[in-house]
Amino acid sequence: MRGVENLAIAQALVDLADLHELGGTLPFKVRAFRSAARAIEGFGGNVAELARTERLAEVRGVGDGVARRIKELLETGKIAEAEALRAKLPPGLLDLMNLPGIGLKTAQQVWQERNITTVDELEKAAHEGRLRDLPRFGEKREEKLIAAIAAWRKRAAAPKRRPLAEAMVAAEALVAKLSVIPGVLACDYAGSLRRRSETVGDLDILVAASSEDAPRIMDAFATAPGVVELLGKGDTKTSVVLDGGMQADLRVVPRESWGAALQYFTGSKDHNVAMRTLAVKKKLKVSEYGVFDDQGAKIAGEDEAAVYEAIGLTWMPPELRENRGEIEASQKAALPVLVELSDLKGDLHMHTTETDGKSTLDDMAAAAKAAGRSYIAITDHSETLTFVRGMTRERLREQKKKIRETEQRQGIRLFAGIEADILADGTMDLADHLGELEWVVGSVHQKLQMPRDEMTKRVVRAIESGKIDCLGHPTGRQLGQREPSEMDMEVVMAALAKAGVAIELNCSPLRLDVNEHLAKMAREAGVPVVLSSDAHSVRELAYLRYGVGIARRAWLGPEHVLNTRSAEQLQAWRTERRG
Ligand SMILES: [Zn+2]
Ligand SMILES: [Zn+2]
Repeated sequence: MRGVENLAIAQALVDLADLHELGGTLPFKVRAFRSAARAIEGFGGNVAELARTERLAEVRGVGDGVARRIKELLETGKIAEAEALRAKLPPGLLDLMNLPGIGLKTAQQVWQERNITTVDELEKAAHEGRLRDLPRFGEKREEKLIAAIAAWRKRAAAPKRRPLAEAMVAAEALVAKLSVIPGVLACDYAGSLRRRSETVGDLDILVAASSEDAPRIMDAFATAPGVVELLGKGDTKTSVVLDGGMQADLRVVPRESWGAALQYFTGSKDHNVAMRTLAVKKKLKVSEYGVFDDQGAKIAGEDEAAVYEAIGLTWMPPELRENRGEIEASQKAALPVLVELSDLKGDLHMHTTETDGKSTLDDMAAAAKAAGRSYIAITDHSETLTFVRGMTRERLREQKKKIRETEQRQGIRLFAGIEADILADGTMDLADHLGELEWVVGSVHQKLQMPRDEMTKRVVRAIESGKIDCLGHPTGRQLGQREPSEMDMEVVMAALAKAGVAIELNCSPLRLDVNEHLAKMAREAGVPVVLSSDAHSVRELAYLRYGVGIARRAWLGPEHVLNTRSAEQLQAWRTERRG
């Protein structure tokens, strides 16, 4: 199992923990697997690589026992202990456990007391009223279960996690709708979306309101545009399924708990665990209701910043809350200043109707100016991409003239650029013409699936050509659709640093390429990052906001991002580097 993802390793450990619990092992004995799984999920480096080099101890929360099982998984493709436990359990039980409202405990209960081991059997039993006399059940829960199973079947058919952009647009619409309801004192989304994870599972929406107003707010949520199914409605929480399959949960909390709830439901889990550990040392208790002293008196809760301050920390941006050193940084008053959308002065990658864009040069320039950019680079595709009518030398010269005119007319600085293809051997398309252009993005669009060594050499050769300013969408991945190309990013990063070439964080919702881990690697290697929309229409110029979230997760400040500089500074950077 070479090249195994961290997530796959984490999942194997979660499965192992579940199997143990279902098999009757005491929960405290399996806790180590769960906390190790969480640590691995949030870990920036490659866990499989660490295992190969006997450095698993570098992952916080991975002890000897867990390390042994990870190595076994990597060497044999499975954990024998898990296989043995699984063999003892009825098939179907694990599916059952993952139903909303069921979980491990209830799965165990219906299995042992009703001999139910599959979702189908459970649904049948609920319809026939054979569950209601179980402890903690009843008629109402039976009904809920039937609805939950129907929703589960539907969701099982849809992908689990959605791209950040889809989640953000859906959440913003819900927040806008709820915010104007009388009685809503505050409304925001929390969860991994607020932390700007590149993919998001469920949406967590929070509202502050009095308990008398809660039912009306829940009703409005349950009937909001885009809601296709109601999963459950209670006094404090309502769950729905949105068009497209995402689940959204609304929680209504009292005003005096707003800050604590926002903090708690924003997570991440690991961040919150670290916070609670710190609080305990100060004899304080943190929950979604507030911060309490050892007498049970509430000392914070209404305001999120005050929750942090109560335990001796300062408020920190949600993108940092992954327990990757932000708590320690906060204690030392050394939190980074993160880049913001308003810091971005220019956008250095976009297309027009000359190739595969939908908007004209004129419209792109006007829209970028209206969006607050003070310069943009026009970077249509190069000749080799014939299927999008890639630019020839002649057409590039024509376009450059038009760019000069448009610049005058629209009053925004325009760079006559190109997105030039990095050919299969690492040479550049239109190599002899690139010197005439004012900004060159070098990108791989064809033959993305080369062997790792070959791809690394190809990209390094392009970087060392002296002809490109920025490496475009470096790995070629598309979320949920295309895996990143295999290459040695440490070698690529070193080449970029040496040649003084920037790396792109392409902000197009399905790309977000480089990802947060590679963006962090770039920061550490001193490689400037360019946040680009890669817009193919005026509407897509707004994509920059998604990439800003990823950049912030990588602890990037304005100084790490090249297009926070003015057009003059950017030109100076280019001249200095090219000599
Ligand atoms: Zn491209
Ligand atoms: Zn492009």
